[in-house]
Amino acid sequence: MTNRTVTLATLDHGEITIPEPAWCIGHPNHRPDDHRADILHSGPDTVLAFRGRHITDASLVQSPFSTAEIPELCSSTPGVSVSVLGLTLDPVGLYELAAALETYADQLRNLADQLDTFLAGGDER
Ligand SMILES: [Zn+2]
Repeated sequence: MTNRTVTLATLDHGEITIPEPAWCIGHPNHRPDDHRADILHSGPDTVLAFRGRHITDASLVQSPFSTAEIPELCSSTPGVSVSVLGLTLDPVGLYELAAALETYADQLRNLADQLDTFLAGGDER
C-alpha cells in the first residue's frame, strides 16, 4: 500500500489530493482545465521496438474517477493499455495477447526457415 498522494487542479472540483499508486509515473500532461474524470494514473511504458522503430507500447493505467466505466477504454479498475490495440486489457486479455504474440513469433521463425531453405537452393516451391 502506498502513502503517496498527488494534488491536481481540476476544472470541476478545484484542487484535489488523491492517492498516487506506487506505479504511477506522475501527471506531467495534466492541465488545470482537465475535469476530475480525466485524471489518468499511468505507469512506465513497456516498449516493443525493432531496429529503432517503435512498434507498440503498453503500460498500467487507471482512471480513478472514470464516469464511463468501459473496461477496455477507461475504468477505475487498473488495466494495461496496449497502444497497438487502442484498448486496455485485464489480466486474461493480456495473457491472450501474449499467447497470440508467441504464436506469431513461431510463424516468423517458420518463414525464416523457409526463406533460408530457398536461399540455400533447397526446395523452391
Ligand atoms: Zn498518478
